[in-house]
Amino acid sequence: MPKKDYYETLGVSRDATEKDIKKAYRKQAKQYHPDTYKGDKKEAEEKFKEISEAYEVLIDKEKRAKYDQIGSRVADEAFGPEGFNWSHFTHSQDVEDIFGSAIFNSFFRSTSRPGFAGSGGIFDTLFGSGEVIQKPVRGADIRLSLNITLEDAAMGTEKTIEVPMSRVCKTCGGSGTRSGKSRTCPYCNGTGQIRNVQSRRGSHVITAAVCPQCKGTGKSNLDLCSVCGGKGTVSKRTKVVLKIKKGIESGYEIRIPKAGRASESQIGGESGDLHVVLNVLPHPVFERRGADLYMKAPISFAQAALGGEIMVKTIDSKQVKVKIPAETQTDAKLRLRGLGMPRRGAKGRGYLYVAVVVKTPMNLTAQQKELLQQALVGA
Ligand SMILES: [Zn+2]
Ligand SMILES: [Zn+2]
Repeated sequence: MPKKDYYETLGVSRDATEKDIKKAYRKQAKQYHPDTYKGDKKEAEEKFKEISEAYEVLIDKEKRAKYDQIGSRVADEAFGPEGFNWSHFTHSQDVEDIFGSAIFNSFFRSTSRPGFAGSGGIFDTLFGSGEVIQKPVRGADIRLSLNITLEDAAMGTEKTIEVPMSRVCKTCGGSGTRSGKSRTCPYCNGTGQIRNVQSRRGSHVITAAVCPQCKGTGKSNLDLCSVCGGKGTVSKRTKVVLKIKKGIESGYEIRIPKAGRASESQIGGESGDLHVVLNVLPHPVFERRGADLYMKAPISFAQAALGGEIMVKTIDSKQVKVKIPAETQTDAKLRLRGLGMPRRGAKGRGYLYVAVVVKTPMNLTAQQKELLQQALVGA
């Protein structure tokens, strides 16, 4: 282990007061913060660790006195043979004061996640080898699907739905605690584990145990807010009005910003979004293909043969007259302009295709049969 001069590291004199030390650490910590440091991140990490080690010793009256006495051997005593690592750092609060709780909580959040072991956790995260969460954590999105009728899709409408929206708990301001202070476990500093160094026959055994105070969550369970139970958010059914535009098709998604879940991080952050995916239900009369609609309409035998007019009800409930040309065959499609579906975000409507179904007369009287025979045989 190289000899360390903690005073030199922090750039303070040997008779520096506690205030001087704090000030010096603050200044340097800011300088080596990865967001602001211009040079090599790895170097910044090392520097940050160095000054934090020095700070850990010098800010503590007992450790400092010992350091003045025995020098850097105090490090072996305090931090074990592997030297200082972040699980030894007990002044996370001061880091928080410097960077604001935002950054602090976000990196502790990510180091305390299950399965994330290792001493360099905080800085692995902060300096980019892990998952970098340096901003307040955004709440989760909510995704819902909503059935609408073809009529709704054709004419446009408004729908009111109720969503279980989560909001920041007003009682605790989102901290999850009664006192409003951070819920970071003070015992393990939010890492969720306690590291222990033992010497056995000349070799050193480092054990990491789950923090008994927080059971590895990294969060304190003391002082919980009674309204939200420590979650920092409360769920409330909230009405949301959705504008369904004309011409919408199945799968269309309406996004309502910030109507999703509230951020569950202690430091807040934006709520997630609400996504509503629309599903247009099949229609008993109309079949939709793009902007065009297809329907069937029965016509009589006579109308088919001689031509005529029928009335058809459109998707927007209008009665329109449709001309049947003479000699129309069954399944013939009559094309009606502008009576299909509106085109979303564009002008105009598609076609309405009316497929005629000729009804063959049934239960004819003897006289009718006779007449038909005379008229149509050979036709
Ligand atoms: Zn803990
Ligand atoms: Zn609360």
